[in-house]
Parts: sequence; C-alpha cells; structure tokens
Amino acid sequence: MMEKTLVIIKPDAVSKNLIGEIISRFERNGLRVAALKKIKMTKDEAKGFYIVHKERPFYESLTDFMSEGPIVVMVLEGENAIQKVRKIMGATNPAQAEEGTIRRDFAENIERNAVHGSDSAQSAAYEIPYFFSTLEIL
Ligand code: ATP
Ligand code: MG
Repeated sequence: MMEKTLVIIKPDAVSKNLIGEIISRFERNGLRVAALKKIKMTKDEAKGFYIVHKERPFYESLTDFMSEGPIVVMVLEGENAIQKVRKIMGATNPAQAEEGTIRRDFAENIERNAVHGSDSAQSAAYEIPYFFSTLEIL
C-alpha cells in the first residue's frame, strides 16, 4: 500500500550535520521525499506534537529537547512507508536497535535518538498536517 509518513531529524542529529546522511538512508531504501523543511519548534509546538505522551514521565524533558534547536521535518512516501521508516530508524533505545539502523549508528541515548517516524496511519494523519499544508506535499 502506498503510504505517507512524517519523519523528523531531531536536534541532536541536525547539530551533528547528519541531515544528508539520514535522508540518503531513506532514499536508498526506496522512499521518496514528498515535502521537506528546516524549522525550530517552540516548547509549546513540541508539546502539541507529542501530546500523546503528555502523561509520560519524559514529556517535559522530551519537549525541551525537541525545541532546543533546529529540526528537519519531511513527508516520505512509498510502499508501506510507515513500517519501512520504523525499521530503518531502529528501536527507540539505541542499545536495542539493530545493526545498520539510524538510531544504532547515530543516537546518543533513548531520548536523544536522532529521528522520529510516525508509528501508525492514525499518527501520520495527525503529524503530517501539523507541519505541512496540502499544497506543500508533492
Ligand atoms: P518517535 O515517536 O520519536 O518516533 P518512538 O515511537 O520510537 O519515537 P515513543 O515511545 O513514541 O518512541 O517516544 C517518543 C520519544 O520520546 C522517543 O523517540 C524518545 O525521544 C523519547 N523517549 C521515549 N522513551 C523515553 C524514555 N524512557 N526516556 C526518555 N525519553 C524517552
Ligand atoms: Mg512514537
């Protein structure tokens, strides 16, 4: 099934100059960039994006991290894009991420873990319009 998913290159990875390396990994796996921009979220914007985690103990720390510096947000399109992106990213905790995944190679720890990818079609339907209008997705 052709799908679209929302991917974020998080502030830790952007500050390490890994934008091109990370986008290349997705492109090499057959995903297509449908929309792309570099932005910096406010604390409130980060809280809105991760609203599903508002009761979690790491919510404050996570939203501080996600608003500490620039991020790159993109819409990727491809066959089974949602699951494919999750597999290329690797497990949330880099210590548990498979070899060759983005998080295994570039994450610092379970929080500063380089990338975000929508975890379901329902999440993608919330996350894509959070950053992009229809006219920006090509
Ligand atoms: P993402 O939603 O960013 O793609 P994920 O779906 O693998 O990651 P989630 O459970 O949705 O993981 O958690 C969202 C983000 O919150 C994680 O990517 C990570 O940055 C942070 N996080 C998750 N668990 C912890 C934790 N135990 N301690 C600190 N930060 C955490
Ligand atoms: Mg998630």
